[in-house]
Amino acid sequence: MNLGEPVSLGFDIGGTNIRGIALRPDFSLGEMILHPCEDDQEKIIQTVVKLTDQIQEKEKLEIGCIGVGVAGFVDRSGVVQTSPNLSTFDDFPLLDKLRQKLSVPVLIENDATSATWAEVQLGVAKESQNVVMVCLGTGIGAGLYFNSELFRGSAGYAGEVGHMTVMPDGLPCPCGRFGCWERYASGSSLGYIAESMKLDGELGSLGSDSDETPFDSERIGHLALERNKEALKVLGQYSNWVALGLVNLVNILDPELVVIGGGITELGELLLDPIRKSFEKITPESSLRAKEMVVLAKFGKKSGAIGAALLAKQKFL
Ligand SMILES: [Zn+2]
Repeated sequence: MNLGEPVSLGFDIGGTNIRGIALRPDFSLGEMILHPCEDDQEKIIQTVVKLTDQIQEKEKLEIGCIGVGVAGFVDRSGVVQTSPNLSTFDDFPLLDKLRQKLSVPVLIENDATSATWAEVQLGVAKESQNVVMVCLGTGIGAGLYFNSELFRGSAGYAGEVGHMTVMPDGLPCPCGRFGCWERYASGSSLGYIAESMKLDGELGSLGSDSDETPFDSERIGHLALERNKEALKVLGQYSNWVALGLVNLVNILDPELVVIGGGITELGELLLDPIRKSFEKITPESSLRAKEMVVLAKFGKKSGAIGAALLAKQKFL
């Protein structure tokens, strides 16, 4: 290990949390730190600066550069044009603002693209040349890696798969449209699916709470981990929605590997099995697709921050 080389920091600014991690010169990782993300430009900048100081204190190494993955339409000059789950970012020059506050080189990237980079460099997609990574978080973003290169599109907005319509006239989406995939298959949709199954009489009691308690994704996830039958039913229906979008992507892009990321991957096989089954059932010519082409990310919800740190390291160090 070269002790003289500085660390690279990675941040992931999402609709719910801001995560930060240090990537050391030997590619080992520091501890992930996390802070709730308030939908406010100034507070987001302040949080990134504060977390940078905290990590610096812990690591006791010089910080050489910072990479920031952000949920939204990030153009090539580091301006967040719009972010459906972070309304404060509207034509917001995030890169310039962070450069003013931080004394090291900074790079801005879409969060799902960053996450994909972590998985192809150090994670589950290391051996693959053609990968789609779908991050199931507050919304859904995708990273595209084809012919061994990241694909960002002409302006940098490729991979906004969460806003692919899967239900005409369906649920309203913060993007202003209706029936977007992320309303049904993002990490935060489990609660909605439980509610609608309950309304349709397809769901029994989920435990001791009264019927008035609204379902949320975290609760469904916990119950599923305890093998609660009703929660597993919810997960089954959720998996059908996830698989529907994955099949659309695979039909268009023909990747070798589809990586699923985001906090919900903590459910492990409980999530992967029903997604794979549903995927196989609804994929046209499924015999032509690799049996186990859908996999879970190695780094779970850390992928975005790790990938941003890697991208910054490769550009600046
Ligand atoms: Zn939408």
